[in-house]
Amino acid sequence: TAARLHGIEPTIFAEMSALALRTGALNLGQGFPDVDGPATVVDAAVEAMRTGRNQYAPGPGFPELREAVVAHQQRHYGLDVDPATQVVVTAGATEAIAAALLALVDPGDEVVVLEPFYDSYVACIAMAGGVRRGVTLRAPDFRLDADALRAAVTDRTKLVLLNTPHNPTGAVLTREELQVVADVAVEHDLLVVTDEVYEHLLFDRREHVPICTLPGMWDRTLTISSAGKTFSFTGWKVGWVTGPADLVASVYAAKQWLTFSNAAPMQPAVAEALDKETSFYEELARELEAKRDLLCEGLAGLDVDVYVPEATYFVTTDVRRYGYDDSLAFCLALPERAGVVAIPSQVFYDDREEGRHKVRWAFCKERAVIEKGVRRLAAAD
Ligand code: PMP
Ligand code: GLN
Repeated sequence: TAARLHGIEPTIFAEMSALALRTGALNLGQGFPDVDGPATVVDAAVEAMRTGRNQYAPGPGFPELREAVVAHQQRHYGLDVDPATQVVVTAGATEAIAAALLALVDPGDEVVVLEPFYDSYVACIAMAGGVRRGVTLRAPDFRLDADALRAAVTDRTKLVLLNTPHNPTGAVLTREELQVVADVAVEHDLLVVTDEVYEHLLFDRREHVPICTLPGMWDRTLTISSAGKTFSFTGWKVGWVTGPADLVASVYAAKQWLTFSNAAPMQPAVAEALDKETSFYEELARELEAKRDLLCEGLAGLDVDVYVPEATYFVTTDVRRYGYDDSLAFCLALPERAGVVAIPSQVFYDDREEGRHKVRWAFCKERAVIEKGVRRLAAAD
């Protein structure tokens, strides 16, 4: 294996899902819903296959999907995006992240990134030859510390990699926090890449603000999203990047050599979903909010500290009072002890002290599954 991959651990999500399969434990680890998205959207994909849309899509994506992304950005955020030059369809947000970092980061460039990090950021920064500089969102409320952000920026910083709503903490960056990022980006002439795959899965009437909508930010920001979370089709791997034409062209320059194009028959289906299935994700957010409450209340009944999330699929706990000093040891023992799988969040941190005791639990599961998981945990106590 090449040096650029040394020290990068295998993705924790595959490891913990394999553990769940092996042990028959309930999987509250990897974030995927156990109910699929709208049947009409599945029908649209089947129809696309039946009507012969099974060969390569255009590299940047079918025009109808790029148009639907543009209409979505207009409807939700008041943005005017050019479908011809300012949108590229990708193999999930994952490819968009990889292509953006490979396209924009030179060896030795520094990338300021929110810690805990979604694991692919660490790997893709490394594959691009970049150096990560974490800015830690600290428990219990995971707010962005403006001083820590400023301290992370050096004269080698190339870009800020954001994620809001944030995985794994479930924090939603406020307009004020984003303004701090915008001020720093403008002052130091930085690019911003922002992963907003949970843009529609917010709770308690919170508002998602794309940083590209802040004054002066459009020209320096690439915004990433995907159909996986919004429409509960995580296996389809249809994502997209929007931003100014020059940055989007750079992403495409990398994307064409990664996959060239992807998911031809799913693209028209996702276009239809974006155009017609707004109520699906509104309803999904309400359901997830209730499931968040169900799991958080269940976990609070054990002896763990629960950090109630503002968005996403996930809740974080601290397992020290539960008798564990180390979240990895806790998560490896949990299937046998309680028949449940969770994610040891320490793998998302450089800061061992902050990460060591944290565990992430997914609540994008049917109520009966969450209830069973909580019962098992309580019985194992
Ligand atoms: N970013 C974040 C923050 C995620 O949680 C995920 C997992 N879905 C992804 C990116 C990957 O998205 P996709 O499945 O569209 O590649
Ligand atoms: N985004 C999902 C999570 O955080 C997993 C995606 C993956 O397995 N790469 O659980």
